Amino acid sequence: MDTSRCPECGLIAEVLDRVVLESTDGPVEHAHVRCVARHRFWLPVAYLVAGGVAESSGAGARSRVEGWCTRAARS
Ligand SMILES: [Zn+2]
Repeated sequence: MDTSRCPECGLIAEVLDRVVLESTDGPVEHAHVRCVARHRFWLPVAYLVAGGVAESSGAGARSRVEGWCTRAARS
């Protein structure tokens, strides 16, 4: 699973899809992301925030995952 951060709330966001869109400067790859608060965005991959769960390791990553699951269960 490819993850990023939500540009609105900063929570973990899953990259659902990637497409290449034409622009006046040439093709630009865009990603469809959805965060745990269900915000959805299409944004250029250059705006994706590195450091999602998949790219993290150690105790800090585990606590973030647990926090994510707790929030998801409440919503
Ligand atoms: Zn969000």
